[in-house]
Formats: sequence, C-alpha cells, structure tokens
Amino acid sequence: MRYDIVIIGGAIVGSSVAYYLREEGFTGSIALIERDPQFSQAATTLSLASIRQQFSIPENIRLSQFTLKLFRRLKETFGADADIGFREGGYLILAGEAGLPILKANHEAQIAEGADIVLEDAGQLARRFSWLSTEGISAGAYGRGGEGWFDAHALLMLFRKALRERRIDFITASVTGIAREGSRVTGVALDNGETLEAG
Ligand SMILES: Cc1cc2nc3c(=O)[nH]c(=O)nc-3n(C[C@H](O)[C@H](O)[C@H](O)COP(=O)(O)OP(=O)(O)OC[C@H]3O[C@@H](n4cnc5c(N)ncnc54)[C@H](O)[C@@H]3O)c2cc1C
Repeated sequence: MRYDIVIIGGAIVGSSVAYYLREEGFTGSIALIERDPQFSQAATTLSLASIRQQFSIPENIRLSQFTLKLFRRLKETFGADADIGFREGGYLILAGEAGLPILKANHEAQIAEGADIVLEDAGQLARRFSWLSTEGISAGAYGRGGEGWFDAHALLMLFRKALRERRIDFITASVTGIAREGSRVTGVALDNGETLEAG
C-alpha cells in the first residue's frame, strides 16, 4: 500500500492538516492513521479547549486568528448544524511591576496583529472587574473579543465528518515504526503487521 501522504494521529492537528491539504487543492492520496478513534487519551479532547490571542510572537497570534476566523465562519464552512459552543470571554493576564515590560511588549505585538486586547492599569481593572483585588498589580491585558471557550470534541468531529467527503483513508491502527532512506521518511509500520509506503 502506498500513499502520497501518511499522517500519524487523527486528532485536531492530523485531521485539520488533512482537511487543509484538500482545501488547498492537494489531489494525491492521504492516509490518516489513528490508534484510538474514541480519542479517549488525546490532548485535543482532554484540553481546556480555550482560544486566545494573547501570545508574544506574531506567528502564534496569526495561527490563533486563523482559527478564530474559522470559528466565526463555522456554519459556512461545515454546514448549518455546525456548533462548537464557542463562548467569548477574554483572558485576563496580570503583571506586577517586574512583569510589566513583558506584558507591554506582548501587548504591542498583539495589537500590531490587530488583536482586540486592551492594556489597563490597576485603577481601570478595578472598575472593569469589581471582584478583583489589585494589590501588587501594575497592569493587566484583557481580551475584549476573539478569546474564549469551545467544545474541542465537537470541533474535531466537524473536521472528521468533512474529511469523509474528501477522499481520505481512515486507518485504525498504531504506528510502530518509521522507515527511512537517509534523511527521507519512506513509510510506516503498523501494529497489525502492515506497512504503508509514504511519498
Ligand atoms: C491539560 C491540557 C490543556 C490544554 N488546554 C488547551 C487550551 O485551552 N487551548 C489550546 O489551544 N490548547 C490546549 N492544549 C493543547 C492542545 O490540546 C494540543 O496542542 C492539541 O490538542 C494537540 O493536538 P494533536 O492532534 O497534535 O495531539 P492529540 O490530540 O494528542 O492527538 C494525537 C493523536 O495521535 C494518536 N497517536 C499517537 N501516537 C500514535 C501512533 N503511534 N499511531 C497511531 N496514532 C497515534 C493519538 O491516539 C491521538 O489521537 C491543552 C493540552 C493539555 C494536555
């Protein structure tokens, strides 16, 4: 058996890679290998499933904005029934005097990428969050939009369902070995005794 692309692990990263390969027009063969289709031990389904824009480098902020755009167009992308229960509630990241320069630098990187994050001093924070003790706090960065919580299992199932119409071979098995020729990966061995060649 030979596939142009073999993906090990069918949770959110593996499934979305397969999905976007097809979206970008890749027409070759793709195998998606998953040892546990219930995803009982996957980080995807065990995660806290929250999304934030508050990162320190543009690459991470852009990745998150890409996902946010998908969340905002969920029904257009996956169909009218698509629902991941996305609830927007911003992260609040606090800093004392020592952490303030880092918080400010991060905030500059975030707003340069168009993220809706505000930087507020202790007084402003106390007015916004009446429950907050601002003792020892110099400032806080708060996501006014684009941050919050969602159902990661539901999101994963949307990708998996979409893949069924996109000529992906789902293989339930555990990868036990990776074959190489020099620095090039040429295939994988599975726990059922089969091997798959990989382009
Ligand atoms: C406690 C916790 C909280 C988190 N909270 C967040 C959060 O709030 N927001 C956020 O964005 N991220 C969060 N993360 C990180 C996020 O969950 C991961 O970055 C993401 O789920 C990784 O996806 P993945 O598909 O690479 O890995 P996984 O979801 O772990 O999937 C890997 C898949 O590969 C399969 N697999 C592994 N080895 C083999 C093999 N040899 N053969 C066949 N299949 C195999 C596994 O069965 C599994 O299904 C959190 C992580 C943890 C652990």
